Amino acid sequence: MDNKKMCPSAPLKKGYSVFGKFIDGKLEYYDEIITIDSEMLDTVKRENVRTTMPCVSKGCGNWSGDKCTVPDQMNFFLTPIEDESQFENCPLRKSCRWFFQDGIKACGICPLIETKLFGT
Ligand code: SF4
Repeated sequence: MDNKKMCPSAPLKKGYSVFGKFIDGKLEYYDEIITIDSEMLDTVKRENVRTTMPCVSKGCGNWSGDKCTVPDQMNFFLTPIEDESQFENCPLRKSCRWFFQDGIKACGICPLIETKLFGT
């Protein structure tokens, strides 16, 4: 298992982290990644945030061969954003699984994906 890379499309759950929030339909990145503790869990549940967790690679159903297939799946459905200024401030870039494997191409579809609520 590769714990060094982070999944940028994790469920919303205590102990995971948030790295951005949708405001008026646009993903605004935080300055830093923030761990979700008990106190902030209720707050972020009411917001439309993006959540990250350590990538579990082969332990995930979206993994195939040597990569995460979510960016390829999303590229099939979504039209990538071409304006790189919309995602250049992402605080996850240094550790992001998608950026590591697909580079800036993954960032073009990333802000179009909304996190769904799963468990606590
Ligand atoms: S794909 Fe790009 S924009 Fe999305 S979390 Fe990774 S580095 Fe950030």
